[in-house]
Amino acid sequence: MSPGGRKKALRATAPAPVDAEALAEQARGLGLLGWVRPTGEVHAEGAPEAVEELLRALGDGVTTEAARVEGHEQFGIRGVPAGVFVVQEHQATAHHYDFRLEVGGVMRSWAVPKGPSLDPAAKRLAVQVEDHGLAHNDFEGGLGDGAVIVWDRGTYEQGGRVAWPEALDRGHAVFVLHGEKLRGGFALQRTRPGAKPQWLLIKRRDDEARPGSDVVAERPESVVSGKPLGDFLD
Ligand code: MN
Repeated sequence: MSPGGRKKALRATAPAPVDAEALAEQARGLGLLGWVRPTGEVHAEGAPEAVEELLRALGDGVTTEAARVEGHEQFGIRGVPAGVFVVQEHQATAHHYDFRLEVGGVMRSWAVPKGPSLDPAAKRLAVQVEDHGLAHNDFEGGLGDGAVIVWDRGTYEQGGRVAWPEALDRGHAVFVLHGEKLRGGFALQRTRPGAKPQWLLIKRRDDEARPGSDVVAERPESVVSGKPLGDFLD
C-alpha cells in the first residue's frame, strides 16, 4: 500500500466456502490487512484498488458491505482452531484454576484464583506462570498434598488485530474457546508486567456470554471423570 495513502475497508461474503490459506496469501500479496474465514467471510482493509482486486478474486455472487478501518496488523485466518486449551482446577497451597493455551508447541499458562467466568462483567485475575508441556493436559488425580482435575478443555481460535504470539507479547490477546463449559470470545489483558505478570481474563460480549452466571460453581465436575476436585483429595 502506498505510504500515507487513503485506506478503504470492506466486509464481503462469498457465496460458497473459500480456500482461506490461498485467499489470505493473495490478500497479503496485495498489501491488505484483515482476515478471512473458510466460510467465505472476509474483512479487508488497505489501498482501495487492492481491496477491489481481492473482491474480484472472490468471484460472482459475493455480497459486500462497507466497514470501518480497524487497524489490523496482519491478514489472518479466522474460524480455524489454532490449538488446544485446557483449564485444570488445582488444589495446591492455594486453590486456583490453571488456564492454558497451546501456542508454538507449549501450553502458555495462567493461574486464575477465582477461575474463568462467562459473565463479561467478571474480570478475573490471571497470573502468568511458566509454560507447561502438552503431555500434562490430560492429567487428573492427586498431586503432592493436593489434586488436579481437568475442569474444561477443547480447541481455540486466535483472534484480534495482531498476529500471535506477538499479541501475547504485547499484552492483549483475543481468542474464541470451543470447550465443554467455556465457549465464545475471551480476552487476556496484561495489567502489570514483571517477573509474575498479572493479566485479566475477560469474557467478551457475544452469544455465549451469560451475565450473572458463575460457571465454576455451577459446573464443578471434571470433563474427564465427571468427578469434582474434592473426590481426589484425602
Ligand atoms: Mn496450578
